Amino acid sequence: MSLEKQLENTGVVVTNLDDLMNWARLSSLWPLSFGLACCAIEMMGSMASNFDLDRFGVFPRPSPRQADVIIIAGTVTFKMAERIKRLYEQMPEPKYVISMGSCSNCGGPYWEHGYHVVKGVDRIIPVDIYVQGCPPRPEALIGGILELQKLIEKEVLSEI
Ligand code: SF4
Repeated sequence: MSLEKQLENTGVVVTNLDDLMNWARLSSLWPLSFGLACCAIEMMGSMASNFDLDRFGVFPRPSPRQADVIIIAGTVTFKMAERIKRLYEQMPEPKYVISMGSCSNCGGPYWEHGYHVVKGVDRIIPVDIYVQGCPPRPEALIGGILELQKLIEKEVLSEI
């Protein structure tokens, strides 16, 4: 009989370190307080009382050194690209990137004629989750966070 089975209903939980650490990390995602354009308004809406991202353990942080997620919410101009890269590099490992909205995913409405717009933030930093829409609603961002949680759940700490 497995140890888990033997300890059933005794109030003792048996798990492995990877699962425990991943559970702690996915339950306390701290995104950097940072927005670029209209999508950032929807991101702020997701944090406010109606949608309340806090209930998923998501607390925005003012410093990249305290954040483990950066949500790229808005149009990535060439002028901002260098700043975004610097903020990303200042975040400690392991770190994750959510690309929120069409502008960040691929250039959005500026795809064809926006000479000043980077055609996708993944040309500057690696992206883990893409959230569709122009702008995506808060529910879509929440969906993206849940997908990121699933991704973290499967990680093996020794390989990060
Ligand atoms: S995807 Fe749409 S809503 Fe979001 S920043 Fe671009 S233009 Fe604005």
